Amino acid sequence: MNRPADYHIHTFFSEDSDESPDNIIAKAISLNLKCICFTDHNDYDWPVIDGKKEFSLDYPSYTKYMEKLKFKYKDIFPVYIGVEQGLSQTSADLINNYDQDNFLDFIIGSSHLVYGADPYEKEFWTGRDIDKSIGDYYESIIENLMVCNNFDVYGHLDYITRYIPDKTYKYDPNKYMEIIEVILKKLIENGKGIELNTAGLKCQLNAANPDTPVLKLYRQLGGEIITVGSDAHKADDVGKFHDKAYTLLKEAGFNYYTIFKRRHPEFIPL
Ligand SMILES: [Zn+2]
Ligand SMILES: [Zn+2]
Repeated sequence: MNRPADYHIHTFFSEDSDESPDNIIAKAISLNLKCICFTDHNDYDWPVIDGKKEFSLDYPSYTKYMEKLKFKYKDIFPVYIGVEQGLSQTSADLINNYDQDNFLDFIIGSSHLVYGADPYEKEFWTGRDIDKSIGDYYESIIENLMVCNNFDVYGHLDYITRYIPDKTYKYDPNKYMEIIEVILKKLIENGKGIELNTAGLKCQLNAANPDTPVLKLYRQLGGEIITVGSDAHKADDVGKFHDKAYTLLKEAGFNYYTIFKRRHPEFIPL
């Protein structure tokens, strides 16, 4: 089996991480990973809280720092540089014109908000129907796909299910398969991929994001581009559950996983 590549990692350039990139690389080397890609957050539409705009990446500092880091490890360990871009209709122009100088290796397009509201917050769910909120989340993804094209894979497609506060609620992806199929077809048609995000495997969901039925459908529809990422916000989580992820991929009919260099996909045999 090929060594794992972790293509979704946050550092202290993300609002919700304090981890140093050097610690992350040390962990990746200790795990004998094939390579890693940093993907710090950039969300243009994050609600302003206490006058502070969160999750806005300082792109010049980030690229300068990461370029040096890449150089520092050039003979030791392969490091790639990406961004996890929050997709939205309202900021489509900014998103589509991001990284004009083609510095980045990889862009994950993600939805962390449902029409501007944050499902991570408990208040989001107050007075909302759970099924309808999940449906709205998928609707918003379709709308994002109509206008945003500057990304390589769609991140954690069923992200919203991580934060349903009612722990007795059992998310069933089959209930949303019709709309998910529309999303997957649109991604394939646009030459984009998805990611298998392993973060759900460590929390109570005990399922990857997206869940197995969605991985299978994507493959059946002809989807080939699929990266694997831990969504680590600390060094301890780097490379987590990649073995399990590759087993899930094989079960879903994939023979390869994908990495990106300078925005071009490379297919690595499983
Ligand atoms: Zn994310
Ligand atoms: Zn992330």
